[in-house]
Amino acid sequence: MPSSEIEIIRHSLAHVLAAAVREIFSGTKFGIGPVIENGFYYDSDLPIPLTPEDLPKIEKKMRELIKKNIAFEKQKISKEEAKKLFKDQPYKLELINELKEKEATIYKSGDFIDLCRGPHIKSTKEINLDAFKITKIAGAYWQGDEKNPMLTRIYGVAFDNKKDLDNYLKNLEEAEKRDHRQLGQKLDLFHIDEEFGAGLPLWHPKGALLRQIIEDYWIGEHLKNGYELLRTPHIARLGLWQKSGHWDFYRENMYSPMDIENEKYIVKPMNCPGHILIYKTHIRSYRDLPLRWAELGTVYRYERSGVLHGLTRVRGFTQDDAHTFCAPEQLGQEIDSTIKFGLKMLKTFGFKEYDICLSTRPEKYVGALKNWEKATKALEYALKKQGLKYQVDPGEGVFYGPKIDIKIKDSLGRAWQCTTIQIDFNLPEKFAVAYVNQKGKKQQPIMIHRALLGSLERFTGVLIEHYAGAFPVWLSPVQAWIIPIANRHNKYADKVNRQLTAHNLRLEIKNENETVSKRIREGELQKIPYMLVVGDKEEKAKSVGVRDRKKGDIGMMKIEKFIEKITKEIKNKK
Ligand SMILES: [Zn+2]
Ligand SMILES: [Zn+2]
Repeated sequence: MPSSEIEIIRHSLAHVLAAAVREIFSGTKFGIGPVIENGFYYDSDLPIPLTPEDLPKIEKKMRELIKKNIAFEKQKISKEEAKKLFKDQPYKLELINELKEKEATIYKSGDFIDLCRGPHIKSTKEINLDAFKITKIAGAYWQGDEKNPMLTRIYGVAFDNKKDLDNYLKNLEEAEKRDHRQLGQKLDLFHIDEEFGAGLPLWHPKGALLRQIIEDYWIGEHLKNGYELLRTPHIARLGLWQKSGHWDFYRENMYSPMDIENEKYIVKPMNCPGHILIYKTHIRSYRDLPLRWAELGTVYRYERSGVLHGLTRVRGFTQDDAHTFCAPEQLGQEIDSTIKFGLKMLKTFGFKEYDICLSTRPEKYVGALKNWEKATKALEYALKKQGLKYQVDPGEGVFYGPKIDIKIKDSLGRAWQCTTIQIDFNLPEKFAVAYVNQKGKKQQPIMIHRALLGSLERFTGVLIEHYAGAFPVWLSPVQAWIIPIANRHNKYADKVNRQLTAHNLRLEIKNENETVSKRIREGELQKIPYMLVVGDKEEKAKSVGVRDRKKGDIGMMKIEKFIEKITKEIKNKK
């Protein structure tokens, strides 16, 4: 239901949209027209199919109507009267029949009458003609049910003023240019193949290399920060998931069991139980804690096909997972260092703004109340200690423990959920995880689940959009192209290539029979950080002609000088 002023305007615009459609396409049957983020839509069953070319016509008609200063009049009528009024509108009749109230509320604006609870503006005078736009059409099943007819959904956006609208449209255009699904194909990084399966991305050589670069950095940083690496298989026996509680509480996200020699196995939706079984292979002492165990663990979770989206919403993905087992008194320190570690890594990838959220105990929970309080305090302590701004979501924690979520903001200001740090009172209990404390007694350690990047798939998708495919040099799968001007320079190009690859640089020689300018243009489209043009002059001077992706031609440079420049950039991860 619309509440703020702009939402009321947006929803009123939905009525105006329907009124305009009704005037242009007589015989249209109307569905519903709610407010959505930034705008509104209206679903209708049109007598003829609509094309995007019809949208300006509809928008023009809306403007005509708005200029007439049409008043919105609210009226309550009996259901019987409403049925008579909407006798030619089958979708409205369905809605009237579903009404729980005795009476129906209708809104009249000019000749257009709609079944609606409101609220609405007093008159179309309140609508800023320069601050709305009809944007697109899509198909939508009536009531969201695919057994029902497909209606035409017409979308619009509206803001307080023209500036906000222009900003929004500019951002939208920018977001389209950065769409990782398109860039993924253009830059030959990955694709999703219907023949292989929805939500299961296939990584091409350059995409697989990009992922490897991310993973190598991730592994290196974890080893430096006191983590050990684990590996666990992709399937495990059903009994394990029954014991962990996933089979009861998480089944809707899990795939059906498979049969292996009359034993049921499940494709893993999580890595935790495997890590716990490794913990339990030894008697652990307080001296061993904290144990920090990390795994780039591939998991599979069911997502409806309708919500799948490129790399950011998939059915199989690799979590950058870790589990820390620590003594209760170590918790504050562990959370503190985990947040620090996570933020440092995100910063290195170029994300410097975050939304941080602390979620506390929900109604239904496991574990002792005093442990929840202690754990929540530890999370708060760490956030405060680092002077981080955060918001508290009361009751939004998982049933097994409180958590911290960090969303990163990309270059367009969009927020993406990546880091999650969760405390778990459930699994240690279920698996009787223990350590021997200083008094020689068995005690339950605290288990922390955490992922810093979230998943490699999603994070790579976000990276592609953040950089619009123009990755910093250290991340670029191909860091430079060598472009020999003529065939006679191929030998020198090879020599340059050998010299550079000896410094672990990633290069390609582009010696196709194309003009130099055409090859440079292609390199720009492929967002290659450096292009090294080599001809007679360069060969003679043991140099390369350097084109920087951002600055263009930066002149001739000795090979050693270029190596020094690029390796420094890579080292600094700039
Ligand atoms: Zn309404
Ligand atoms: Zn876990």
